[in-house]
Amino acid sequence: MADRYFPNAMPDFVPEASVEDAVVAERAKDSLSNLLHLPHAALSEKLKKSALDLKDTVVRETRALSGKRLQDYTLYTGALGTAYLVFKAFQVTKNESDLKLCSEIIRACDAASHDSGRVTFICGHAGVCALGAVVAKHSGDERLLDHYLTRFKEIQLPRELPNELLYGRAGFLWAGSFLNKHIGKETISAARMRAVVDDVIKHGRRLAKGGKCPLMYEWHGKKYWGAAHGLAGIMYVLMGVPLKPDEVEDVKGTLCYMIKNQFPSGNYPSSEGSETDRLVHWCHGAPGVALTLVKAAEVFGSQEFLQAAVDAADVVWNRGLLKRVGICHGISGNAYVFLSLCRLTGNAKYLYRAKAFACFLQDRALRLISEGKMHGGDRPYSLFEGIGGMACLFMDMTEPSEARFPAYEL
Ligand SMILES: [Zn+2]
Repeated sequence: MADRYFPNAMPDFVPEASVEDAVVAERAKDSLSNLLHLPHAALSEKLKKSALDLKDTVVRETRALSGKRLQDYTLYTGALGTAYLVFKAFQVTKNESDLKLCSEIIRACDAASHDSGRVTFICGHAGVCALGAVVAKHSGDERLLDHYLTRFKEIQLPRELPNELLYGRAGFLWAGSFLNKHIGKETISAARMRAVVDDVIKHGRRLAKGGKCPLMYEWHGKKYWGAAHGLAGIMYVLMGVPLKPDEVEDVKGTLCYMIKNQFPSGNYPSSEGSETDRLVHWCHGAPGVALTLVKAAEVFGSQEFLQAAVDAADVVWNRGLLKRVGICHGISGNAYVFLSLCRLTGNAKYLYRAKAFACFLQDRALRLISEGKMHGGDRPYSLFEGIGGMACLFMDMTEPSEARFPAYEL
C-alpha cells in the first residue's frame, strides 16, 4: 500500500442531471456504477442488509459477551463500540433482541470501566454510563436508567486532565450534552457543565496568550487542530453548550484563525505550525474540521463558516479514497462529511458524494482488505477503526437526513 489513497475515479455530481444520468454517462459500466445507479430505496435495502450482516460479524468477532472481564470496553476500539452499533441496528429494525443484546454488552462495559479513571464518551466511563442510560430509557427500565445516571454523576474529573475529545474535558462535556439531548434538559445540571466549560476556556486562553488564536490547547506536548485531540473537537463541543458572549467570540475567533491558516490545498494542518499536508481524516485534517464548520454554520448562521465547510468537503472529495474503512481515519468517516453538508445545504451533490463513498465500500472494501490492498484497521471489527464504522455508515445511508458522525455530531 504505497499510497494512502485510491484516486477518486468516480464522476462528480452533475447539477442538471439526476444521479442516475450522471452515472449512466460514465462509460465504464461496472458493479460500482451499477450500485450507484440504483434508486435510493433499492440501494438503502442493500446497504441495510450488508450493515446487519456486518453487525452480526462484529458481535461475533469482538466476543463482547465472552463472560471474561473486557480487555477493551471503549467506544473507540472496544465493546462499547459494538454496543453502539447494535443500538443503531435496533433503531433501524426495531428488533427488541438487539436492544437486549446492547444492554447486556453495556453491562459488561460498566463492570470493566468503573475504575478505569477515563472520563470521556469515546474512551471512558462517561460513554458507558451515557449510552447505558439512553438504552435503559428505550427499554423502559427506570431502575437501570437511574443506575447509569447515578454512576455518571459520580464521575470525578482529575485535576490534571487534557481538554481534548478522546481523553479530556471536551469528551466528558460531550457525554453530558448527549444525555441532556436524549434523556432531557438538565439531566446533567447547567452548574456541572459550566464548571467544566470554565476549565476548558481558562486553559485555552492561558495557552493562547500572546498568540493570534484566542484559544489553544496541548495534548502530549503538541498543539493539535483535529477533531480527536485538538481544536476542531474542542470547538465542536463548546458550540453545543451555553456560552457567555466573550466565550462565543473566542470560539468564533479560533475557527476563523484555523480557516485563515489552512494549507494552500484547503486541507487543515494536524497541529499548529505543521507543514505536512498529508492527513485527510476525521482525527487529523479537513474532515473533522469540516464537521465542526458545519456546526459553526448552523449555530452562528454565518456565510464564512458555510463557505469554509463547503471548501473543506471539496478537499475530502478531491483527495480521494483512503485505504482504510473506519470512521476515525477511513472512507466511512470521510463519507459523513458529505452527509453533514447535505443536511446543512440540501444540495443533492453531497448526497451523491456520500453515496459514492458508501457504494465504493459496499462494492469493494471486504475484497480489497482480503487482497491486502486496503488496510482492515488495527482493530478490524471496531467502531472507529474497523468495519463497525462501515456498518454504521451503511445504516445511516438509509436515512441520510438523520445521519450523524458517531459520538461527534449531536
Ligand atoms: Zn484516526
